[in-house]
Amino acid sequence: NLPLRVAVTLPNGQNYEQPRGLFIDGDFRPSIQGKTFEIIDPSTEQQITHVYEALEDDVDVAVAAAKRAFENGWGTSDPETRAGVLFRLADLVEQHSETLAAIESMDNGKSLLCSRGDVALVSKYLRSCGGWTDKVYGNVIDTGKDHFAYSVREPLGVCGQIIPWNFPLLMWSWKIGPALATGNTVVLKPAEATPLSALYASQLCQEAGVPAGVVNVLPGAGRIVGERFCKHPDIKKIAFTGSSATGRHIMKSAADTIKKITLELGGKSPNIVFADADLDRAVRSIAFGIFFNSGEICCAGSRIYVQDSVYDTVLQKFKDYTESLKVGDPFEEGVFQGSQTSHNQMEKILSYVKTGTGEGARVVTGGKRHGSKGFFVKPTIFADVHENMKIVKEEIFGPVVTVSKFSTVDEVISMANNSVYGLAAGIHTRDVNKAIDVSNRIKAGTIWINTYNALHQSVPFGGYGQSGIGSEMGAAALDNYTQTKSVRMAI
Ligand code: NAD
Repeated sequence: NLPLRVAVTLPNGQNYEQPRGLFIDGDFRPSIQGKTFEIIDPSTEQQITHVYEALEDDVDVAVAAAKRAFENGWGTSDPETRAGVLFRLADLVEQHSETLAAIESMDNGKSLLCSRGDVALVSKYLRSCGGWTDKVYGNVIDTGKDHFAYSVREPLGVCGQIIPWNFPLLMWSWKIGPALATGNTVVLKPAEATPLSALYASQLCQEAGVPAGVVNVLPGAGRIVGERFCKHPDIKKIAFTGSSATGRHIMKSAADTIKKITLELGGKSPNIVFADADLDRAVRSIAFGIFFNSGEICCAGSRIYVQDSVYDTVLQKFKDYTESLKVGDPFEEGVFQGSQTSHNQMEKILSYVKTGTGEGARVVTGGKRHGSKGFFVKPTIFADVHENMKIVKEEIFGPVVTVSKFSTVDEVISMANNSVYGLAAGIHTRDVNKAIDVSNRIKAGTIWINTYNALHQSVPFGGYGQSGIGSEMGAAALDNYTQTKSVRMAI
């Protein structure tokens, strides 16, 4: 019988109250069967707390609450009402930003530098969603004399949202923001390893006046809670971010009830440095592209291609710059890279390092665990790789990058596109014509020119190929949460 809130001391010494019940119908409650699971701080390996674990029967109760909330008014609410809620929520996230960032760093292991950036984007994105509420336009269509037709966009109903552990709060906002803006209600499952920020934010939902049942948060296992979302007849849509393997599974599970689906999946994104680039700037950008968020980012620039005439220079500069990045305690001033999110993830990354050396690639720097306590991995650069190596083909999801040489534009485009994924790509050059030409020919949902990992609330983000279906953020996100109704009338 776990109390629904617990006092937690953050690693920075600050105390706060952590909710740890399921958030259903506007309040926290224990799970029906009373099961709980443990939450670990990955940078210290210490237990933080336990939270209640949802099972199928809890999902059914939450879905019923979400359905009631949809039918009892949220689904037909005024845009101003939804905007007001989202604006207040954005303000509250801003007011609680330091606590939220610290919770995120404690629960996920990422540096405070990263979590502060995440939280800033969360409030901007929620505010942006508030601004969209009265701009969900339909069309008037000319259907000939004596008739007219118009279309309207209506919400879907209850949406099931399943999010990963690499950006727990940011993914919470990417999911609930557009769903609420368009009048849907949600049941959301945080990842097993990182439920704390979404539970804390549920409290902010209460304070912001999100009506009971509009947002429900259910920590629990993917194969139980996530699976039930996919099969539940009253859930109309699944929005998922995570691995391509789970995405594939979710599509199959949701097929029986023909749910609408958006998937934001993995990647193996190329990051290209041409000889005419500002090399120092390019080196900072490729390092940020892979080592940001401890490399646990779906759009990580994990395959670097450098033009042959500057290959040795860039590799040396990249090594020096990488070795200057501070790795360690996420709460320590100046730390760029914190720990990986779990023991499993650290082991998975280290096993890829072993595979890479076994395949004949050369470790330029890193290649091992950092320290012996906490799940830290040194930023790792592999050179002398070839295109068929596993470390060049598969998503590692950690601070491990491969560097290859190319000579011509055609050659690098064929290397860049040689992947089942297509989430993002980077191009570093001073030649604007080349930048546009290459960006036109690369098959990826986002192209960054002379920058990397630069996300903005107004810019759509989504994948080509096995990187996913649908786009998040910007106007594109609204399409994922509305369906079109056409009305034709004879005059
Ligand atoms: P995952 O894709 O299995 O987990 C993501 C979310 O899906 C979690 O909330 C999980 O509980 C849920 N889930 C798992 N199985 C499910 C199922 N059968 N039905 C419904 N929901 C389910 O990712 P993981 O196992 O935690 O990590 C494995 C690998 O996935 C990582 O090593 C990494 O390579 C990759 N990954 C990618 C992203 C991304 O944004 N592209 C995010 C997380 C993990």
